[in-house]
Amino acid sequence: MSAPFVVVSDFDGTITQHDMVVALTCHVEAGNRALVDRINRRELDLKSGLTALFQTLPSRGRSAYETFLAESATFRSGYHQFQHVLADAKIPFYIVSNGLDFMLDAVLGPKTENGPERMTNHALFDGDHITIDWEYPCLPPCPGGCGLCKHKVVSELRDRHHAPVIFIGDGVTDVNGARLADRVFARSHLAQYLEESGTAYTPFDTFDDVLAGLFQSTEVKA
Ligand SMILES: [Mg+2]
Ligand SMILES: [Zn+2]
Repeated sequence: MSAPFVVVSDFDGTITQHDMVVALTCHVEAGNRALVDRINRRELDLKSGLTALFQTLPSRGRSAYETFLAESATFRSGYHQFQHVLADAKIPFYIVSNGLDFMLDAVLGPKTENGPERMTNHALFDGDHITIDWEYPCLPPCPGGCGLCKHKVVSELRDRHHAPVIFIGDGVTDVNGARLADRVFARSHLAQYLEESGTAYTPFDTFDDVLAGLFQSTEVKA
């Protein structure tokens, strides 16, 4: 039997209270703040922006970065309960992040058998500075420049599970995925963007809000 729906959630600023890509790259190099502002204003595409941000992080700092992430990340209220409810109901749950794999591992710990799947970019530490292996490149009709293409991910997961995709996100990295999803829970920049473009979404602040909204109605947007 196929699942009634699939859940896709952004990581930074959605599962975590703050964007850990911004927190880490600006902690190591304060000058990165200007680059982050340009990405948020969409003057720079994500792939170029992320490449530039991580190029400022020396590979030798890896364990210090992992310690910083583990100690400074805080989870959005209701997340752990949310994850357990989905696992118990056997709802497929994917964390889809334009951050890097070592960052999710540092915050979430090793993946557990019933825990969410993780789809993210792969960090390479073999040069002087961090470089990125892009594992989910853009697929037309996505206009490109995503880094990790949430448009492609939403499309593939919908086909794989033969079920509607519920998308949860907060930022500019989520726009292309949210536009394609069957239902969207949005906050912050993503909510503002969807509002301006006239796309339907449900606002949320905590994962308790999302959980209530998810099971209250199975209605999906047309
Ligand atoms: Mg985010
Ligand atoms: Zn794309």
